Formats: sequence, structure tokens, C-alpha cells
Amino acid sequence: MAAQTNKHTIASTGKTSATRNVIRFTFAVVLMVALIPLYLLNILLAVIVLKAPLKSENWLDIGGDVVELYSWQVGLFKSSANLINVALGQVHFVGTPIIRGTTSIPNVKRFKSPCDKAGLYDCLQLHNATGLVLNGELPLLEAQAKQNFIEDALMVIKLVTCKTLYKKGGSKQVETHMFGIPFANTKMRDAINWICQSEQPQTKCRVGYFLNVNSINLAANNTELHSTLCGSDKNFADGSGMRIAAQHSGIDLADNINGTDMLPLLCEHALQTKQSFFLLGAKDGVAKKAGESLQQQYTGLDIRGTHHGYFKSDDDIIEQINQSGATILLVALGSPRQELWLAKNKHRLNCQCALAVGGLFDFFSGAIPRAPLWMRELGLEWVWRLMQEPKTKFNRYVIGNPVFLFRVFILKQSIRGL
Ligand code: UDP
Repeated sequence: MAAQTNKHTIASTGKTSATRNVIRFTFAVVLMVALIPLYLLNILLAVIVLKAPLKSENWLDIGGDVVELYSWQVGLFKSSANLINVALGQVHFVGTPIIRGTTSIPNVKRFKSPCDKAGLYDCLQLHNATGLVLNGELPLLEAQAKQNFIEDALMVIKLVTCKTLYKKGGSKQVETHMFGIPFANTKMRDAINWICQSEQPQTKCRVGYFLNVNSINLAANNTELHSTLCGSDKNFADGSGMRIAAQHSGIDLADNINGTDMLPLLCEHALQTKQSFFLLGAKDGVAKKAGESLQQQYTGLDIRGTHHGYFKSDDDIIEQINQSGATILLVALGSPRQELWLAKNKHRLNCQCALAVGGLFDFFSGAIPRAPLWMRELGLEWVWRLMQEPKTKFNRYVIGNPVFLFRVFILKQSIRGL
């Protein structure tokens, strides 16, 4: 019986894979037919300059295997010749990530991909375009390997949209600035290392802020907030708005460093490096619930204390935080209160690092659901937040986003004028 079921499964998997091959082949051929004028032009140009129209280039997949792809020697959209490889079944549209050249992937980063063939597109490219950092590349590729053809097509559409919206090609400088505010253009892992780094002896509490559309808009009309953001130990660029602003300022943003994507990774790192947390902010009971839920997910996570964010006396709260012995303080009082509160009190805090994290506890306590992955992949988390809290977030997003884009326009003009 089991053998029969197994046979049936193998047969149906084989059938699905054959159907997918036929669809893939047909789709590649249809695209090639549509591109015939371009192909003819490229062939003609190659003949004029006495070159073979096609060349074969070596790429390397994430497992370290060489993948050969065709490209046009001369002409436009040279990589459009890759469609020939798809039609020949040598690569898929969506599959194992590949990188041009054969020495690009250091050995330490190589791993066996769960996808059965190399692909022109992959989910890691998508996450790289938006700067989204999730837990590990392998689980992402495992999920991609299970996608059907329609999901693959949607992924490619998302990727093309993000590559158009958040074009790269600027400076990759690590310490840079926008709107007169410095920030660290870093990878998520470097940001987490910075937060968890213990200085011996510890001299002061380091403070980090997340710069986003809202904080930039607020700082434009609030000089105290502006100078507070300028005076932090580290700022991180958070969200698609900052990515667009960076693109127009000639900066290539590394990762999208926001509190919600960071917290799970920070908890994992905190477990390894024996850090402990104090959660301050949000409505009564929310920080406590967020702490409990994190401890359920990350067994052994050291949460030394929690407190709601509607307190009157700073002294009592600071006393509690210091008494707890927590090394990392997360402050969720909303902008600009959280940034101003930290700037005013950081010299009295004994923890090694404090971060202003906005509505983080609302998400991790389950009070407000997090945006679905496809929205986060497109950098549209703000649309979700607007849907969740239309009244309170109306000004921030419906008015604030166009105002921010106007600021980006002005910023671009001023950079051009330099
Ligand atoms: N909040 C607080 N004390 C205050 C004002 C706000 O604890 O005096 C909390 C509020 O309950 C919410 C968070 O601060 O949990 C602010 O969330 P918001 O969505 O504004 O932050 P964002 O992530 O958008 O910066």
C-alpha cells in the first residue's frame, strides 16, 4: 500500500515537473519571439563589428557549481539571450541564486540549494532589492522551491518592481548622512553586533535610533529632535521611504534596518552573547506580553523587566531599569518622545545600549498583526499599518509620505546644485 502511494506520488511529481518544463519552455519561446526585432538588431550589430553574436559566460551558483549562460556580444539588453538557456532547460526562470564570474562566492557562503536548477531570478535578489533581512537564506530558498509557476511569476514581478523603485548604483559608504542627519549604512548583522558589543569597562549607554519617513518629517519641524538624532551614537535607515531618499542622494543602502525585522535576530544573538533586555513602552501590559511571547519563542531569553510607556516620573523608571541589570533597553514611546527621552536620560542609564523602537511591542505582543511578507517584500509595510490604524496613522502616511517625497525632491535638487 505504502509502495503504491509512493509510486503514485513519484508519478504525480514527475507529471507536475514535466508540465512545468512545458510551461517554462513555451513562456521562454513566446518571449523570444516577442524579442525577435531586438535579437535581429544584436545579430546585425555583431556581424558589422565582425564578432560572433552570442558568447557563453560562466556564472556560479550558490552551491559553487558553474552555470553557463548565453549573452549577446554586442547590442542592447545583452542578457536577454539567457532565454535561450531557459528554453533549452539549462536554467529556470526562478531557481538557485547565481552570480556572474566563478570566484564571486567565498567558500564559507556556499551551501547546497534546495532548488533543482539555477535560476535567472531568486528570492534573495528580491530581498536584497528591498533590503529585507529575514532569518537565513536557506529557509527562504526552501520556500521558493515549493512555489508554483504563478507564485514564481509574481515573485519576478515583485523583483522587477523593487529593482525599478529602489535602483542601485550609488555610493556604498558606511558612515553617511541624509537630510543633515548621519546614519550607518550597514548590514543587519553589523547593526546587531554593535548593539550587543560589550565594552569593558563600560563607560556610557550607547543610543541608537531608526530613521524613517516619520522621524525625518518630524525632525524637519522640530530642531530639538533634529539635533537629538544628530547626536545619537548610531542611526539606522528604516523603511522604503529612506531607500528611495538614499537612491536619489546617490547612496546604495545596504539592509533595511528596522526594529521589527531586527528583534528576532537580536534575540538569537542576545542568547548567544548572554545579553539581557528591559522593555519600556506601549500601553499597560503590552510590553509584558511582548516579553513573554519572545521568551516562548527564544527559550532562555533574559528579560529583566518591562514597564508601560505612560509614566510620569523618569526617576522611578530609570531606577527600575538600572536595578534590573539589563544590558539592552528597548524604548517604545513613539516619536519624538522616545528619542528625546533617551537623549535626556542616557547619561543616567547603566545598560550598554538603548534603542528607540516605536510600535515594536504592539507587534510582538500580538496587539497589532505584522504586514504579510509580500507587502514587506515590496516595501509596503506602511500601507498595512495605515489599514490597521487608519485614524491614528492618517497624517503620518497620507500626508507625511507626499511631504517626504517633496523633501526628497528638494534634497536631490540641492545635491545636484553642489
Ligand atoms: N507610546 C507610549 N507612551 C506615549 C506615547 C506612545 O508608550 O507617551 C507607545 C504607543 O502605545 C505605541 C508606541 O509608543 O506602542 C508608538 O507606536 P508608533 O506606531 O507611533 O511607532 P512607530 O513604530 O510608528 O514609530
